[in-house]
Amino acid sequence: MALDLEALRTRLNERREVVLERLRSANESLDELDRSQPSEAEEEAQELNIARPQVILDQRSRNELAEIDDALARIEHGEYGICETCGEPIGEGRLLAIPSAIQCVECAEAAERRAQGMPSEPERVLGGPTEPEGGADT
Ligand SMILES: [Zn+2]
Repeated sequence: MALDLEALRTRLNERREVVLERLRSANESLDELDRSQPSEAEEEAQELNIARPQVILDQRSRNELAEIDDALARIEHGEYGICETCGEPIGEGRLLAIPSAIQCVECAEAAERRAQGMPSEPERVLGGPTEPEGGADT
């Protein structure tokens, strides 16, 4: 096994700190925003379901944090570097570029094509778990 798991774990932990710091500062600016606005306008915005930029940023950071935690957990379980979709090794170059990657390049590109609504090439049957159509993003 050529993967330097310790180095990857260190990188993931460093990245985790960056994202946590970003979440902290985002929440601080959110607090300031809340204080500077009349509460009525705030309630109105929530009723109208207006997502503020900070909330979107917050959600992205949380998603990234979840991916990092997931990658760290897979290192612990010895499952790191294996494509979640096809079970093949993800490849060291890709893991070094994206330490929290959970799919190999082929599967990630296929998922991207699906997400964009492009017609996908006939899928090979690999006997792996099939993904639900569409995905979680709404
Ligand atoms: Zn794959």
